[in-house]
Amino acid sequence: ALAQKAQRSTREWQQADAAHFLHPFTDSKALAAKGSRIITKAENIYLWDSEGHKILDAMSGLWCVNVGYGQPSLVEAATRQLQQLPFYNAFFQTATPPAIELAELLAEVSPPQFQHVFFAGSGSEGNDTVVRMVRHYWASLGQPERQVIISRENAYHGSTMAGASLGGMRYMHAQGGLPIPGITHIPQPYWVEHGQGMDKDTFGKVAAGWLEAKILEVGPEKVAAFIGEPVQGAGGVIIPPATYWPEIQRICDKYGILLVSDEVICGFGRTGAWFGCETQGSRPDLMTFAKGVTSGYIPLGGVMVSERVAKVLIEQGGEFEHGFTYSGHPVAAAVAVANIRLIQKLRLVEHVRDDVGPYLAQQFATLKDHPLVGDAETCGLMGALLLVKDPATLTPFPAELEIGMVCRGHCFGNGLIMRAVGNRMIIAPPLVMTRAQVDEMMALI
Ligand code: PLP
Repeated sequence: ALAQKAQRSTREWQQADAAHFLHPFTDSKALAAKGSRIITKAENIYLWDSEGHKILDAMSGLWCVNVGYGQPSLVEAATRQLQQLPFYNAFFQTATPPAIELAELLAEVSPPQFQHVFFAGSGSEGNDTVVRMVRHYWASLGQPERQVIISRENAYHGSTMAGASLGGMRYMHAQGGLPIPGITHIPQPYWVEHGQGMDKDTFGKVAAGWLEAKILEVGPEKVAAFIGEPVQGAGGVIIPPATYWPEIQRICDKYGILLVSDEVICGFGRTGAWFGCETQGSRPDLMTFAKGVTSGYIPLGGVMVSERVAKVLIEQGGEFEHGFTYSGHPVAAAVAVANIRLIQKLRLVEHVRDDVGPYLAQQFATLKDHPLVGDAETCGLMGALLLVKDPATLTPFPAELEIGMVCRGHCFGNGLIMRAVGNRMIIAPPLVMTRAQVDEMMALI
């Protein structure tokens, strides 16, 4: 029966899809009218659809396939672990070798303050864990009034109640009773929107200053943590000025507030360092991760916990009443171990930092001459093109034109996956990408 199903026509797949599958972040009615594109296989940085078209995946799936598609060592790790021990949990004083090995390896590749990890199943669950963990940390220190978590507008931290509340997407808050209490937002460090007329370094400090203003408004004794993505991803690859994160760090230190780096996109080499905080210049107390930890081959997420926090949780926190069935899932952990070892073996962090990242930056910059492009910037292997009506004045296109969506559709029809966020066209290709493949992508763009 499976073999027969595999031979269905594209139309048959689309009909079954529309009849039964509610897609995430999708207007189901509009999709049913059009039909999904059915993706059937992948290799390296390319996908193929059910009609046999080849597509260059400049988004690494959903920012996650860091090592590229079809890596045998990850498949072998999963197969071996599925045969040996497909599942056991870590709740009742048990652990499995892959989960322990992964915890050890994550401590090795993370900045030195991180020696402990809490596992979850996704980035959203990682960020939910952060909300409870930072409040539990302060309560354990005798400061239960430290409840408030400060985040940023246009941030994306997931789709669970806490994740979406931490996130600053207004259209998400408009549905389902969000945000939950105790979460507040400051503007994002987006120069085009908030900084024009200022030089970027000055703007970086001004934008970080919004955090201090918010801390003072809330009352420093009530603030538990600040959370941010080193480079906002889903918000449109908003690369902050170099002055931003060091100033955020200074402010968090000044008020003793925990700094949380959401590394779900920026982690595992994306920015040319193991973690985005290292590229952007902060020293977080907690880091959430997912996606690139397994290169998306299997779901896994979690929180890296610094010794500052771990010491309190372990010595004063008692039982942390929190966890997931799949916290430390052995198959996911085995794949993550194979994935991290492959990143090390292929020297992908160095490849992004010293070779393909600078080359992409150089090539992307040539698009600044294009009559529709107001800015073209990259950080490691993520980048954004700002589409404008007039590059000299950065005059935007009318919103109803949906210029990003038009371009995205055009790319997709021509064998390239780029993503549109408003008037920003963004990329985050697999880290295995070569210079020749950058050229190929640039030609398609
Ligand atoms: N945090 C960031 C920065 C993300 O980009 C995402 C997903 O795109 C998440 C958290 C949520 O991760 P997940 O979709 O695995 O729950």
